[in-house]
Amino acid sequence: MAGEPEADCLFCKIVAGEVPATVVRETATTVAFQDINPQAPCHVLIIPKAHHRDAAALVAADPALAADVLREAGHVAADQKVDGSGYRVVFNTGTGAGQTVFHAHAHVLGGRGLEWPPG
Ligand code: C5P
Repeated sequence: MAGEPEADCLFCKIVAGEVPATVVRETATTVAFQDINPQAPCHVLIIPKAHHRDAAALVAADPALAADVLREAGHVAADQKVDGSGYRVVFNTGTGAGQTVFHAHAHVLGGRGLEWPPG
């Protein structure tokens, strides 16, 4: 069911503390942690604690929770000191866009020049 933990979901396991992660921020509804394979000097993932398979499912089921994730992106950027130089917030949505973990997450990337269009 939407929002319920999924037994085989890696990010649900991070929320539960069953898989380690370097957590940089946590709220009642979200967790932010360092990406294990960083693509920029700042590369933090923000996830809702509730399970939703991707950003589209998240915002359809719980727009307030989607807003929590976006709000946290700004806080992460400020904490990581990339808000002044500019940063990117990315939700890969679907395999064709490169999504590999099917628990909605925002990538916050910064600390280097970022190309457009992205690869
Ligand atoms: O958007 P996508 O689904 O590809 O992003 C998943 C991200 O989760 C990857 O950037 C990957 O490095 C990260 N990851 C992580 N910790 C894990 C497994 C994956 O930070 N234990």
